[in-house]
Amino acid sequence: MANTTAELEALLMQRSLTDAQLLEATETASDFRILPDATVIKIGGQSVIDRGRAAVYPLVDEIVAARKAHQLLIGTGAGTRARHLYSIAAGLNLPAGLLSQLGASVADQNAAMLAQLFAKHGICAVDGAGLSAVPLFLAEVNAVIFSGMPPYGLWTRPAAEGVIPPYRTDAGCFLLAEQFGCKAMIFVKDEDGLFTANPKTSKDASFIPKISVDEMKARGLHDSILEFPMLDLLQSARHVHEVQIVNGLVPGNLTRALAGEHVGTIITAR
Ligand code: ADP
Ligand code: MG
Repeated sequence: MANTTAELEALLMQRSLTDAQLLEATETASDFRILPDATVIKIGGQSVIDRGRAAVYPLVDEIVAARKAHQLLIGTGAGTRARHLYSIAAGLNLPAGLLSQLGASVADQNAAMLAQLFAKHGICAVDGAGLSAVPLFLAEVNAVIFSGMPPYGLWTRPAAEGVIPPYRTDAGCFLLAEQFGCKAMIFVKDEDGLFTANPKTSKDASFIPKISVDEMKARGLHDSILEFPMLDLLQSARHVHEVQIVNGLVPGNLTRALAGEHVGTIITAR
């Protein structure tokens, strides 16, 4: 096994960049997390922000209190306005890359609105959530807001079918948590977590407190409360091996989840 920089460099000069021995050699350095004390929380677009003041104000208060004890990267969903745009654009036969840009503009709108609500607490939104200013914001006020859509834009890899961008804000927020090696990823939505069926349409759906990605797929639940490509991202992640979905309409849930409590559904990579 190659374990020196010189051996790795030799492999990199000679081999395909997807060569098995080369890939193994790139994995020999010890684990490194860029923002190990931060937690990413995604505020749902359709499930939370679209509900307006009744849902958003209490969450803002909860986040302002929670950031005293936790470093928070706050990502936004898109929601109903994005779905409206997707329906018009798809009807016009426009491609996935354009729809991705349109969806991103709605997540941006939500980040801009949240930024106004948090402004008096010194919490700002960053564009693109590049690392440049994030550590400074965390050091100063323990929190930062970002727009949740991954910036693939026109370079979006289209889904096998249709023109809806496959990686949207659930994936965008998760990828940031994984990229920065954050300690946790919490999705704030409008249901207690994952159920055996969509609780909005199935009255007898029952709650599932904990489940693995493989079990979700086996039970046909892969396309339910999270964007389904998220599940593969979770399985191949190096740092973030579980995510929790909590009901943000119940005061205190997010605070408890941040404290490490199991309040909603935990989805595990294995
Ligand atoms: P976001 O606002 O973060 O984009 P979504 O609205 O896309 O969140 O996803 C949350 C919704 O997923 C819930 O409001 C619920 O209606 C729906 N859903 C579908 N299937 C399920 C399921 N099996 N369990 C829980 N929720 C489900
Ligand atoms: Mg969604």
